[in-house]
Amino acid sequence: MKEIILIKNGELALKGLNRRTFEDILVKNMRHRLRGLGKFKFTPAQSTIMVEPENEDADLDEAESRLLKVFGIAALSRAAAVEKDMDVILASAGDYLCDQLMSAETFKVEAKRADKHFPFKSPEICAEVGGKILEQFPHLRVDVHNPDIVVMVEVRDYYTYIHGNQIKGAGGMPVGSAGRAALLVSGGIDSPVAGWMMAKRGLNLVGVHFASPPYTSPRAEMKVHTLCKKVAQYCGHIPLYVVPFTRIQEEIKEKCPEDLFTLVMRRFMMRCAEKLALKEECGALITGESVGQVASQTMQAIACTDAVPNMPVFRPLIGMDKDEVIAISRKIDTFETSILPYEDCCTVFTPKHPRTKPKLYMLEEAEQALDIDALVQDALDNTKFIMIDNFR
Ligand code: ATP
Ligand code: MG
Repeated sequence: MKEIILIKNGELALKGLNRRTFEDILVKNMRHRLRGLGKFKFTPAQSTIMVEPENEDADLDEAESRLLKVFGIAALSRAAAVEKDMDVILASAGDYLCDQLMSAETFKVEAKRADKHFPFKSPEICAEVGGKILEQFPHLRVDVHNPDIVVMVEVRDYYTYIHGNQIKGAGGMPVGSAGRAALLVSGGIDSPVAGWMMAKRGLNLVGVHFASPPYTSPRAEMKVHTLCKKVAQYCGHIPLYVVPFTRIQEEIKEKCPEDLFTLVMRRFMMRCAEKLALKEECGALITGESVGQVASQTMQAIACTDAVPNMPVFRPLIGMDKDEVIAISRKIDTFETSILPYEDCCTVFTPKHPRTKPKLYMLEEAEQALDIDALVQDALDNTKFIMIDNFR
């Protein structure tokens, strides 16, 4: 029996005239994500996209699990594609959905007849298929209001598609449909979650990581590669810039008041990230900050950090509790990597008493001791680039 995957693209359907563009991006992303699993044909039809394997040995289980991580997919289901013949439909439905029907107590049948030449009307299809299923699975009862399983029979142009309950997809918008943004990614719990959340809204991510060798080790950087790779399962790939931060940190330590150290450093991160973001045609920066989490994330401190870049800074975790962030990081499988105890550049030179209510003028005064442009330029000149792809 020929099997396909039916994609429901949810929010996309609302996009009016832009729908085609969104759909094209979604199909391109799905194609990229299914690379290596065989040849697939994609056919959009209303709010559905049919993903049809073109070779016999295509791995549909793996295809399904990869598609469950593609943003822009509200729900998906595996479907049997059978001949448009009532006898074939009756013979196939129970067999194909056997496992789901065995474990259900109640069911109903719904039919869609897109091909109006099909000799049976929808209610007739439902009655026939429902009767046959009751015969095959006598333990089942029909429940039209709240069934355990809905058996869908869709009669379309070339085939009839039979499927059971849908599986919830990753939701959101297709990555790339909203443009690009640069994610400041540390090895912690928050920033990978922040990146994932913005990718979900259709942003392509570019990663920027600050490393301070020899204070931070190569394995701390590898941890960031691993985190990006995990997020890339959802967004396809992440071009990652690794910016050497040691010299900037040492200069700050030598020349600026200790209580402002972290904030001066964060302002340098913003400067470097913004330059890379512009080069990569990004329209925003993304961080994993949330109000009050640490001294550098009080409202006043965030205001001082925010004063640096001339582009919006998206902070999707701003109002979230740590346990809410952790729940997402577990879901997207970054948590176990994030908690590996490798040092981050932020933890290398932490002041004992950071100022929690800084004023912008204090930072501007402190930074007068530094040659900002030269330090930023030097860091960027020595920045390393790695393409993190979901297959590496
Ligand atoms: P995380 O779990 O993301 O490390 P955090 O709670 O440890 O966050 P901070 O260390 O204050 O918070 O960092 C706040 C944000 O600044 C991070 O979410 C990240 O966006 C950015 N950031 C911190 N350190 C780095 C780094 N080494 N490279 C790039 N961005 C960083
Ligand atoms: Mg951190």
